Amino acid sequence: MKIGVVGAAGRMGRALIRAVDEDERTTLAAAVERPGAAEIGLDAGTLAGCGTLGVAVGDDIAGFEGCEAVLDFTVPAVSTALAARLAAMGVNHVIGTTGCSPEEDAAIAASAGSVVIVKSGNMSLGVNLLAALVRRAARALPQADLEVLEMHHRHKVDAPSGTALLLGEAAAEGRGVDLREKAVYAREGHTGPREAGTIGFATLRGGTVIGEHEVILALNSERVYLGHIAEERSVFANGAVAAALWTKGQAPGFYGMDDVLGLTGE
Ligand code: NAD
Repeated sequence: MKIGVVGAAGRMGRALIRAVDEDERTTLAAAVERPGAAEIGLDAGTLAGCGTLGVAVGDDIAGFEGCEAVLDFTVPAVSTALAARLAAMGVNHVIGTTGCSPEEDAAIAASAGSVVIVKSGNMSLGVNLLAALVRRAARALPQADLEVLEMHHRHKVDAPSGTALLLGEAAAEGRGVDLREKAVYAREGHTGPREAGTIGFATLRGGTVIGEHEVILALNSERVYLGHIAEERSVFANGAVAAALWTKGQAPGFYGMDDVLGLTGE
């Protein structure tokens, strides 16, 4: 499968290039960075540390013409605009970008009329399995106080993480409630006692942490901990490549990683 990577010089972009190169079913066909980026013109493989691939990093998304799927871990505005452009080109789109607003998410979903778009705040197998477990635990323990704790590296710009939100959504689904009504994203000062049924989030930032998440279900005198630790970005990159391969032959539409991994209904 011919794959394009946007945001090729980013932390995830480089991991995606390596994952595409390592999988014998995929070939890197195009790599694109922000116009003006210092990496424009460099060989994408050299940039990613996997040897020369014969694909120069470009600055024009027209370079994705002829790709079968594009892997996109960039920023919300880029992913939203690219979704419309790739739909017009007939190219499937795998989006790992986090921090999209509800309006941006709606615009991306609307672009999926003629192509396949897969979007997930976490592309790893382990986190998607964790989400299924959280859904079940939240349903089984409706009386538990549910808190989502996450830690990421010092460069991360959005909070809480896309994965923390994905886990919060799973908990809300398990309880049949709307996360927007139940989420508590920050606590400071005199907050008063914890409101029953809310889903709390706590964010830690620092160092080089790739991604750590813990979901705590606190009951009287006992707690249940469900968690995941990502040790390398390759777990997300390999998931994105798996999602790209999965798009082939799917009906046009907007999908999540639980569709790719067959975890829907879990
Ligand atoms: P990063 O800042 O290292 O990389 C983003 C790249 O996008 C940069 O190289 C930047 O120059 C590039 N970019 C910006 N505008 C562009 C444009 N107009 N055209 C082309 N390229 C452009 O960030 P990162 O750590 O790689 O993370 C990127 C995103 O992926 C974040 O939203 C992060 O939260 C998310 N992420 C998702 C998962 C997942 O599994 N879904 C895992 C890890 C990170």
